[in-house]
Amino acid sequence: MKKDIYLDGAANTPVDKKVYKAMKPYLTHGFVGNSSAVHSYGIHAEHVVEEARQKCAKLLCFDPSEIYFTSGATEANNWILKGLCLHELSKQIPEEEKKKHLVVLAIEHSSVLSSCRFLESIGFEITYVYPDTKGQVSIRSVIKHIRGDTLLVCAMAVNNETGARIRVNDIGRVAHQKGSLMMSDCTQLVSMGGKLIQLGKNFPNVDYFSFSSHKIYGPEGIGCLIARSSAPLYSFIQGGSQESGMRGGTSNIPGIVGTAKALELMQKDQNDHYRELYNYMLKLLKEKLEGKPFLNVSYGQPNIMNINFSSYFDVDDFRNMSLTTLLTAFHVSCSPSSACDAASAAEDVPSHVLMAQKIPAWQINTCIRISFTKYTKKRDLRIFCDKIIQIKKDRNYLEKQGEE
Ligand code: PMP
Repeated sequence: MKKDIYLDGAANTPVDKKVYKAMKPYLTHGFVGNSSAVHSYGIHAEHVVEEARQKCAKLLCFDPSEIYFTSGATEANNWILKGLCLHELSKQIPEEEKKKHLVVLAIEHSSVLSSCRFLESIGFEITYVYPDTKGQVSIRSVIKHIRGDTLLVCAMAVNNETGARIRVNDIGRVAHQKGSLMMSDCTQLVSMGGKLIQLGKNFPNVDYFSFSSHKIYGPEGIGCLIARSSAPLYSFIQGGSQESGMRGGTSNIPGIVGTAKALELMQKDQNDHYRELYNYMLKLLKEKLEGKPFLNVSYGQPNIMNINFSSYFDVDDFRNMSLTTLLTAFHVSCSPSSACDAASAAEDVPSHVLMAQKIPAWQINTCIRISFTKYTKKRDLRIFCDKIIQIKKDRNYLEKQGEE
């Protein structure tokens, strides 16, 4: 199979060979270990899990007891939101004393927004905060909505579709002053690659964090919820005594070991690879594509670029299909939005993030997210631009596709 150009690192990164090597002993014949079992195999498995937990905690600047392994950021986000809110509902206090209000960014990942819809259905009130047209969320626009009955403020550190960065620590400071808790989905911040972000140290005002390993060259199906010991956490997936009795289910030992290794490699990898690619792409847009495409965000993380091609193409060409679909036919893999929203993209529902930025629906079909991995080369970006030029030239192809 001819390999397509891969520009979708924000959706998934390939497992690093060193991560695979670290995981291999726990995947192969010879290792039997349920970390909850009481025999020697179980005790060894538990030791492996705890060693990995300590490593993750040290790298991210937390206490090991604050790290909980989950199946990924989706589960962690569900756990934080629903765990807190369901506990609040169950409190034996007068109804009017319960804190049943949340402040949430409208550009959060679907795992947060879907959880919020559920919470609304059981009586919570959610205030959604919108970004400006360039994807930025001002601190003031969030904190003005925090009230006495606000249980939690939820703001992602970096948006997965645009790369927009949000000053979550500053938001957290005000949330605390007003008596609310603060959570931040850090999946795309941790995935910045080349730079390990010490979440615990850099974000002292955030109580809860989530991230996934498959964005940092680790395996899929594993991630973390981090809850500061000063913040309440309630069990959401009930079962056995795993994860200090807070999350039932047999531990994913290879995944946990892979997560610790992936974080360790990021620490060693400090470099400016993404910034170089970002600047190079800007140069290509200017020189090869007449300077017409522009970014949908003004202050973003350099591994994610959400590019608006509406002034480069005749937008009518994209009435019936998105530019991403066409690029796939041209052997370039990128995303219209996030991979988790792929179903809505396939059903022609425009990106909720770009809609929140008030980008007109007629432009959204021409917007694509390209995102890099540490293996992305400048050559990939040149090929990407060549394909865009080819698509523009090949109007017959466009028309034929549009009729289908
Ligand atoms: N939050 C953000 C910001 C993400 O980008 C993703 C992955 N697209 C998730 C949560 C969900 O991660 P996972 O699929 O690993 O649960």
